[in-house]
Amino acid sequence: MGGLSLLLLPAMFAAPAAQEPPPVLAQARTPEGRAILLRLQFRRGLSVEGKALPRAFLARGADTSGWVSFEALSPEGKRWSLAALFPQDQWRQGEVRHRVSHPEVESVWTLAALFTGHGQNYDRLMAENPELPEKLREGDLWRIPRSLLSADLGGPGRAPDRSQPEDALDDEARVAAYRALLSFSEDGLGKYAAYRLRKGEALYSSVVIRYTDRVDPKGVSELADLIARRSGIDDVRSIQPGQLIKIPLAYLADPFQTEGSSELAEEREIRAEVRRTVRVDAGPKLKGVCIVLDAGHGGVDPGARANGIWESDFVYDISMRVRRLLEQETDAQVSSTIRYPGLGFRNREEIRTPSRAAEILTTPPFAVDGESPSAVSVHLRWVLSNDLFASFRKAHGDAQKTLFLSFHADSLHPSARGSMIYVPGAALVPSSFGLGGRSMGNVAEGKRSGRVTFSGKEKLQGEARSRQFSEALLKALEQDRIPIHANRPIRNVIHRSGGKWVPAVIRYSTGATKVLIEVANLTNEEDAANLRDPGFRERYAGAVVDAIRAYYRK
Ligand SMILES: [Zn+2]
Repeated sequence: MGGLSLLLLPAMFAAPAAQEPPPVLAQARTPEGRAILLRLQFRRGLSVEGKALPRAFLARGADTSGWVSFEALSPEGKRWSLAALFPQDQWRQGEVRHRVSHPEVESVWTLAALFTGHGQNYDRLMAENPELPEKLREGDLWRIPRSLLSADLGGPGRAPDRSQPEDALDDEARVAAYRALLSFSEDGLGKYAAYRLRKGEALYSSVVIRYTDRVDPKGVSELADLIARRSGIDDVRSIQPGQLIKIPLAYLADPFQTEGSSELAEEREIRAEVRRTVRVDAGPKLKGVCIVLDAGHGGVDPGARANGIWESDFVYDISMRVRRLLEQETDAQVSSTIRYPGLGFRNREEIRTPSRAAEILTTPPFAVDGESPSAVSVHLRWVLSNDLFASFRKAHGDAQKTLFLSFHADSLHPSARGSMIYVPGAALVPSSFGLGGRSMGNVAEGKRSGRVTFSGKEKLQGEARSRQFSEALLKALEQDRIPIHANRPIRNVIHRSGGKWVPAVIRYSTGATKVLIEVANLTNEEDAANLRDPGFRERYAGAVVDAIRAYYRK
């Protein structure tokens, strides 16, 4: 979801992207004496010229036709390229001492990615160098201890995420395991939940993102600062394992609230509903299933932007691949809410610039051209999709076999990565809602399907079924080794700037099952690189189709 994706002002997205600093180029000689160019790019990391690269420097199967990324080098190639690009570094027995020589393109993230194998180790790297500022200065000497070096560079190669025992559990058991790590207490400043940081955990991810509903960069940073102060911590970077963290109760997400609270009672009601809800069977061909695919943003609104890519075209491409696979391999009835004219329902290998035109497929089609407030195009997606579900039911389709999927990508705190799935939290779905005729863009579907009502039971069922689908999706993603958000990847609320809501497209959807999928975090460099790769997008679409098949099986 782009920052304010529900009610955004197109002007906010019209601002030009900040100028990226030019890449640093360096030439070095291989042991055989061949000259090779190295390139260090802002936020994209290191790559080396492929054509004369010795075979021993390449990982198996690497393509040498253009620039070869650092990740595609062999351990030997990685060591050579780092030594060649950073000739002032000292490689010692217990550590590497890295001297910052290109502060305009180097970052703690880049150093962590190059030396430890994962950019997400950046907070560990900062903790090892508490006296240095996060913004790199020329000449700063960064210590990278052997214990942090990647396996390719002779270290133990610590994985940054999904390394805790809870990560292997399903959602309910995982949340229960997280809860068991808290204890409740009180001091002069009031009640709090106490948490002791474990080895390798950071305040941002393992406390704020896991135990509260904040995931946006600003919200996470502000709350991390507040919790640090509340816990008597002066410097967030110097936190050691075992440190007592005090989380004020008001910030805890519902599943972590105290015994006897209404929030915890609601959470338990939903979990019970999930267990009670019987799965619907449709067979592997998905016969009799009605699926509506929605790709977020488009037209004048490119959505979230970071790391040289943007949300709209990339999630449109994934949804088109899902569409193609469903049409080729199943008998499901598949529709889309949005179409890029000129491109149609095709997917693309390369996405170079943001597409400027998009239309919501109402009658008549509604151009997302900024002429009407963008909230209209958001509302028309659920209106259209509810209208499609209504005709499906009228033609004797099974109301339980209606599925709405909205594809987005978010821009979260850079320490987070992987897919996150939003389900419509029952407490945040209204009992009734209707749009005025004018905010509807005058489409035929608006008159027929512009109002919704939900009973208490329907709200609970909607969240429960959507949670079941989310579990199936996480399993399929995991099987395809697609990164998943490390802390509570299934969420039922967005908490930002003091407000709480669920996205409108799933809040008002009459589909039996409805989720909004944040396929990746654009702010995270590894996630952005994945999205840029058409092979990844195809794999992602395949996992979504596998998940749909697994979901409609008793
Ligand atoms: Zn979005």
